[in-house]
Amino acid sequence: MKTKGIGFEVKKPAKECSDNNCPFHGNLTVRGRILTGVVTSDKMSKTITVSWSRRVSVPKYERYETRKSKVKAHNPDCIGAKKGDTVRLVETKPLSKTKHFVVIEIIGAQTKEQAVKAELLQESLVESTLEDKKAPAQSDDDHKNKKREEE
Ligand SMILES: [Zn+2]
Repeated sequence: MKTKGIGFEVKKPAKECSDNNCPFHGNLTVRGRILTGVVTSDKMSKTITVSWSRRVSVPKYERYETRKSKVKAHNPDCIGAKKGDTVRLVETKPLSKTKHFVVIEIIGAQTKEQAVKAELLQESLVESTLEDKKAPAQSDDDHKNKKREEE
């Protein structure tokens, strides 16, 4: 079976598989959101759990809280992502009750570390602007809404 393009500029997997739900070797079409996260579980057959965290501003305390998101994703044999890998997911049709994403690429652990470092750097910059009594651009609207409620 030939490895076909999926409409994104990603590295095609070196291995081949006979999974019909593989975007490269099967009949699965991908569309919608593209996500990046870390594999937190690979215990299921052909399914992995991927999670990532984001920081949300809490205006009352002028601090940030960390919130986590978690999705299940199809993991075809040709990609075979393992726990700890940083992967890129694309939305697809529902493959089961809770699964509507598929892994298209393993990005690796090192690049994620660099990304986290860059993120932390950015946050420290944002927090320093907070000290100057300026709201971060990211959650400007939330900030205003909450203030209105308080009044
Ligand atoms: Zn495949």
